[in-house]
Amino acid sequence: MKIIILGSGSAYGCPMVFNQWDKLQVDNPKNIRNRASLYMEIEGKKFVIDAGPEFRLELNQNNITDVDSVFITHGHYDHIAGVPELSRASSSKAHAIEVWASEETKKELRQSFGFMFNGAEKESTGIHWRRLPNIGTFTSQGIEFQTFQVPHHQFHCSSFRYQDCAYVTDWEEMPPIGLDMLQGIKLLIIECNNGLYSEKNGHSDLENVKRVINAIQPERVILTHLSCRVDYNDIQASLPKNVELAYDGMTIEI
Ligand SMILES: [Zn+2]
Ligand SMILES: [Zn+2]
Repeated sequence: MKIIILGSGSAYGCPMVFNQWDKLQVDNPKNIRNRASLYMEIEGKKFVIDAGPEFRLELNQNNITDVDSVFITHGHYDHIAGVPELSRASSSKAHAIEVWASEETKKELRQSFGFMFNGAEKESTGIHWRRLPNIGTFTSQGIEFQTFQVPHHQFHCSSFRYQDCAYVTDWEEMPPIGLDMLQGIKLLIIECNNGLYSEKNGHSDLENVKRVINAIQPERVILTHLSCRVDYNDIQASLPKNVELAYDGMTIEI
């Protein structure tokens, strides 16, 4: 299994528009972050979690020339703005690209990109829309995944587990069911938007993440969806040995 962090940034990206760097050192390339997205290659099948505003650039920067399925976590702009790119991407493929989204997320997608639905759920657009369960197991491209939701603002954000690896983004409090679903995880890639800052803004900080780590004891933790308050060198130096900050292009082979 191969994982590439396509984007490690929060909703506004790093630096933010108008070249705002906030707490970030400008001379560190690891502080330049696309919106959060993940690529996974499992048994030759290619999966992406979320397609934000830099989706096209993220694929091209990492020379990813094919995707079989895309999982959407929730309907915020930083996770769906690149979904229309899939119409173009699928035109070069012999079969449609599966896009998995919960009913709640699909409603947001319909509102944002009604032209991609056009009445039928299938598609002149080359997209095969698939309904992601709120919790449980689903199979895409012959690979079995588990999913569950975490509360995030007015939304529920879908999280994903494959064997002993999990990806959790855009969360503030981990519900007990989430801890249950994460038991036995060895690799946890999880949002730590606020870093050392504690703020009730629908996102997590290092203290929240540490509570999850203590509860499930993963071997390796990678923090992602990082805001401009999370300087790579400053924060990385303060983390336990098995916890790392993500950066764009970070590759994990398992
Ligand atoms: Zn987000
Ligand atoms: Zn969000």
